Amino acid sequence: MIEEQLVGRGIQDPATLQAMRLVPRHLFVEDAMRARAYGDHPLPIGAGQTISQPFIVAFMTEALKLHEDARVLEIGTGSGYQAAVLSRMCRRIYTIERIDSLLSKARKLFDRLHYHNIVSRIDDGTEGWPSEAPFDGIIVTAAGPKIPEPLIEQLADPGIMVIPVGDHYTQELKLINKKNGNISVKTIELVRFVDLIGSHGW
Ligand code: SAH
Repeated sequence: MIEEQLVGRGIQDPATLQAMRLVPRHLFVEDAMRARAYGDHPLPIGAGQTISQPFIVAFMTEALKLHEDARVLEIGTGSGYQAAVLSRMCRRIYTIERIDSLLSKARKLFDRLHYHNIVSRIDDGTEGWPSEAPFDGIIVTAAGPKIPEPLIEQLADPGIMVIPVGDHYTQELKLINKKNGNISVKTIELVRFVDLIGSHGW
């Protein structure tokens, strides 16, 4: 997975590659899917949701340009895999999920793997996590029609956010850069994610 799907396709950030070497992806998929856990595709995780393809996890992680001391907000915990990867490269991860059954499974894994720098809660992540803001990085792993305003506000300066924006079928992965009070937005990839459901989503 690391050599062919990530390095072979241009992922270079040593911290991202190391984190993805460390996290046992097969534990984050359902038992029946275990043999396919390291394949080049997304997989179902229950409740109609999916764990992203390894390349997309790496691409979004690298795009955040994180440092060891960074605090990161993730919207859409899902299986917990993306949060687990981030937790191996920075100080603290705040992750929000709206489906109870998914979050309780992910929490059990975080405990089992001793990933104690991940904090999580059930909520509408499109509102962000105001009491813990600002965040050096924000990663949204579900796609909505627009960039939620509260997330832009809760991004630190400097700070980077990645989020897929589009319709229900295809989206553009947006990179939002906040620096010296300015906000720039650019498209870095075409992607397909499940719906971001909430007051600033669908
Ligand atoms: N990052 C996950 C991918 C999960 S799929 C992983 O590594 O496995 C996207 C997740 O976003 C789904 O679990 C879905 O329930 C969740 N989601 C959708 N809208 C949300 C919202 N407004 N707040 C929090 N989670 C949301």
